[in-house]
Amino acid sequence: MKKKVLSFCLAMVLAISLLAGCGAQKQETPAETEKGNEAKEPAAAKTEDPAKEELTGLLISKEPQELTLHLHIYNKFVFNDNWVSFQKAAELTNIKMKGVAQESATDSGQVFNVMMASGELPDIIVAERENFFKYGPEGAFLPLNDLIDQYAPNIKKFLAEREDIRKYLTAPDGNIYSINFVPDGAAAQGYFIRQDWLDKLGLERPKTVEEVYTVLKAFREKDPNGNGQKDEIPYIDRANGAKTVALSALWGAHTYSDKDHWFLDKDEVKFGPMQTEYKEAMLNLSKWYAEGLIDPEAFTRGKDAREILLGDNVGGFTHDWFASAASANDKFQSKIEGFNFAPMLPPADAKGKVWEYASRPAVNPTGWGLSKDIKDPVIGIKYLDFWWTEEGRRLMNFGIEGEDYDMIDGKPIFKESVLKGDEPVISYLQKKGVQIQIGFHQDFNYEKQWMNALALEGAEMYNSSNVIAERFPMLSFTVEEQKILDQKETAIQPFVEEMTQKWILGAEDVEKTWDSYLQSLNDLGMKEIVEIYQAAYDRYAKQ
Ligand code: CA
Repeated sequence: MKKKVLSFCLAMVLAISLLAGCGAQKQETPAETEKGNEAKEPAAAKTEDPAKEELTGLLISKEPQELTLHLHIYNKFVFNDNWVSFQKAAELTNIKMKGVAQESATDSGQVFNVMMASGELPDIIVAERENFFKYGPEGAFLPLNDLIDQYAPNIKKFLAEREDIRKYLTAPDGNIYSINFVPDGAAAQGYFIRQDWLDKLGLERPKTVEEVYTVLKAFREKDPNGNGQKDEIPYIDRANGAKTVALSALWGAHTYSDKDHWFLDKDEVKFGPMQTEYKEAMLNLSKWYAEGLIDPEAFTRGKDAREILLGDNVGGFTHDWFASAASANDKFQSKIEGFNFAPMLPPADAKGKVWEYASRPAVNPTGWGLSKDIKDPVIGIKYLDFWWTEEGRRLMNFGIEGEDYDMIDGKPIFKESVLKGDEPVISYLQKKGVQIQIGFHQDFNYEKQWMNALALEGAEMYNSSNVIAERFPMLSFTVEEQKILDQKETAIQPFVEEMTQKWILGAEDVEKTWDSYLQSLNDLGMKEIVEIYQAAYDRYAKQ
């Protein structure tokens, strides 16, 4: 086993040094072009680039230029010539994008594969990180490190400030091949409780896991909806059981529910569902379930569970997205007297720690990079950098000034027609090519302006109290490692989920089956998977 790893590492070292060689050669292309220019124009030899001096504002090229762009993402967004964001960008930079992705096809992954197989590649390609990591080292994408360093001051500044993102973008060969979408604002989801029920029963918001039990028990036993029936369903779940499993966080456990199953114990990578905290959570959740504190149909009721159970005035507590959970108030306040579904901070877990497992990812897998066939990589990187300038970032976040927003006290404020229009703000913007998740930095202010007041209160409560747990780093795996993970990891999750469900529903006894469960995980290759994660994390920590 050790030998195998060693020879594998050796192969990697060789591959990296070879690639570093290729990378360096490619990087010389723009410099050579400049040298060529200097030779023709000896008078300009002392200035670095005569053409550059004449460029004003955000112009990247003196003459209008057109680059080809492959943008087909989430099986939903295909680059469209009518997108005003890109039209405006062309006006400001003199660089126009020509979309080449097949519009009629719906499967973004397939469209990407067909494009890659076609030989000649478009200049700029939007893709997932794993594809940049796979095809970058093979030479299909240009390493961007030196280009960023020399020609992309805004991206450079951002990556210098955000080491986590720089590391995320860095492939195992040490190169960056793409610039990705960076969401803003960590808070995403939190706990919501029927505050009016608490008030009615004379209870405080629960601050510990024991208090959560007491409150749910009271919701179940004391008829807070006042209809004389024991019909309350204290904890509700619209994610087919995932939100029930996620209650494990109250015992300090890490689960699959928010892709939180890997975590760090100092520098040691651990798999949440194998730890004693998980066992503790299963023991308690099966008890809660048996006592009717959790929806008996939690695993099957599906995505409408919240609307149904809140609408019937029987649901009392959940964990969900701030915006969507808060919107229940708009729906049910007129129907149910006193209805108040309020965000609350996470209760302390069994060890006394207050933490929130869910957060927005720091960076998305989708980004864009420059292909091997781009004629002028300097123009390409400058174009990607444009979207990281103040103007570019505002354009992709808010749209067109005077049309979609006005600058008020130095801040972009959406027009009433956008905020109160016929369609949701996000779909209005995306139809114009704004808030398309290419490589740009989102601005939470765009969202703040149309969030429900209670949702905003929840999000700010979580952000300001620093309860959101730092996410497990998004590691990068070598192609070999990824292959092993694809083979072995796929069997792990269904097995863990199946056992978890059986335990919570009481179909299997936790104490009696825990050891054989651990044994089965090891039989499925868990040890090797943990080693791969540890190795990837160790590389990450050193970057
Ligand atoms: Ca009742």
